[in-house]
Amino acid sequence: MPSKDTAVAYFSMEIGLEPKLPTYSGGLGVLAGDTIRAAADLKVPMAAVSLLYRKGYFYQKIDTSGWQEEEPMQWSPADFLKKVDVSIVVVAEGRDIKLTAWRYDVKGVTGFEVPVFFLDADVEGNHADDRPLTDYLYGGDADMRIRQEVLLGIGGIKLLRALGYGGIKRFHMNEGHAAFLILELFEERMRALNKQAVDDEDIREVKKQCVFTTHTPVPAGHDRFPLDLVHRVLGKAKPLERQDLFCCDGVLNMTHLALNVSHYVNGVAKKHGEVSKQMFPHYVIDSITNGVHAASWTSQPFQQLYDEYLPGWREDNFHLRYALNIPRGDIWDTHKKAKQQLFDKIREKTGNVLDPEVFTIGFARRATAYKRADLIFDDIERLKSIVTKIGPLQIIYGGKAHPKDEPGKKIIQRICQLAAQLNEKLKVIYLFNYDMELGLLLTSGVDIWLNNPEPPLEASGTSGMKAALNGVPSLSVLDGWWIEGCIEGLTGWSIGDFEHGEDQGVRRRKDAESLYEKLEKSVMPTYYTKQQRFITIMAHAMALNGSFFNTHRMMQEYIAKAYFF
Ligand SMILES: *Cc1c(COP(=O)(O)O)cnc(C)c1O
Repeated sequence: MPSKDTAVAYFSMEIGLEPKLPTYSGGLGVLAGDTIRAAADLKVPMAAVSLLYRKGYFYQKIDTSGWQEEEPMQWSPADFLKKVDVSIVVVAEGRDIKLTAWRYDVKGVTGFEVPVFFLDADVEGNHADDRPLTDYLYGGDADMRIRQEVLLGIGGIKLLRALGYGGIKRFHMNEGHAAFLILELFEERMRALNKQAVDDEDIREVKKQCVFTTHTPVPAGHDRFPLDLVHRVLGKAKPLERQDLFCCDGVLNMTHLALNVSHYVNGVAKKHGEVSKQMFPHYVIDSITNGVHAASWTSQPFQQLYDEYLPGWREDNFHLRYALNIPRGDIWDTHKKAKQQLFDKIREKTGNVLDPEVFTIGFARRATAYKRADLIFDDIERLKSIVTKIGPLQIIYGGKAHPKDEPGKKIIQRICQLAAQLNEKLKVIYLFNYDMELGLLLTSGVDIWLNNPEPPLEASGTSGMKAALNGVPSLSVLDGWWIEGCIEGLTGWSIGDFEHGEDQGVRRRKDAESLYEKLEKSVMPTYYTKQQRFITIMAHAMALNGSFFNTHRMMQEYIAKAYFF
């Protein structure tokens, strides 16, 4: 039931709650789900809003040439969600769009619930062009995107009001996609006060209610819509007269709108906060480093281990700090179980039988150029010589490319084609359809988690945090969260140095060289010849990083800095 005390509304274009509930594509959605789970654990009075995607993001297949194919996800909302008895109307392109909603209750450790509402435009009576608006996440063009964002922002506020959430104090925009909610908050005020235009007092008042988290330094992550499109979709809405809030050069910039009308703005890691300040120099931008929901991203075997040695860790993730006291032998045995679970899944999915004794690297994330998934193959002869010298190697990949990202698809193809040419000592596998289930299996079942994006483009990254919770150290470039999480040789290893701004090609050569160097001199010899040392590193990844890079700590920061003051 809607509670009058609900104080925070959380808006996100995607929210990942269950692997088979396809309302997410990747990091942003998984973070949203983990945020809501933490809010439920910590009894934060919150409600969340997103869109229902009847065809999901997409189901990924990879053909025999290594090329990605996309298929719609087939699923039935009623299997996961409860229909809400509500109907609201949003006007776009001069037409009424009727929206209904579906509800999912996220239950916290102590039973406190946070509801998540998914807006649905597939309603009888809607225009044929409007019914598919909530079919695909990130499908379609600017025209589709702006209308989806209108549904999320404006529809989301109307939905909450229709459900009786009257006393919300903070509206949290998880990325700029949701910034149209600001327009609706202005409209509400103007209606209530019978005003004809948005004035500075309105801005001050609405600003107090808004919180904005920016998630990426990559320009494509910041939506910009031409003003003529905006006017076609939203007509002559009064708040649009305040062009100073969002506009320059004939475009509406969702990031600027959110920046201008939020009392608190943050990036998602310390470094990303700095990078965002450089991108938007006229704003005060803080940072709150991301986390992951610990209980959800800890494999079954490690959950049991923590239940035994660190009771209370689910309620209070800081307990993970005491993981240093867990007997080393138990850590290793538990890791072997998690590794076997992954290998069983790989056998089921691909028919490949992997050797659990062999050092195994995991790499899974969105396949896009700056993540440089194929960096480790830049000098294949070098990689083969390391294998000959130190020991065999298995590399397991996963990740979807956005359907329009050709360079991303080519990287998947390159890896798949290489995989077909390599032998037993250097085995490479690309797992299709990376989702949250595979995410957990991979981050917990490999021996090291590799990440080598081109700095400074990784805002935070969260999969390495999942790995840490499962005692899997990271080998990563110093970007995003890893700048904060890396203690060289103790929680994992770094690749390359801090300096960037060099030519891309030079940077790539240096990073590849550093990656080989670390594998050959540090990581693989530790695994193969100094097992006790390797387990000590695993324990520190759990204790130092698992206890900190979680959404309990993150949510406490949002409460202190953004929600309640
Ligand atoms: C955790 C997760 C992500 C985000 O990982 P990054 O390291 O931020 O790229 C993306 N997709 C899935 C399925 C995940 O589980």
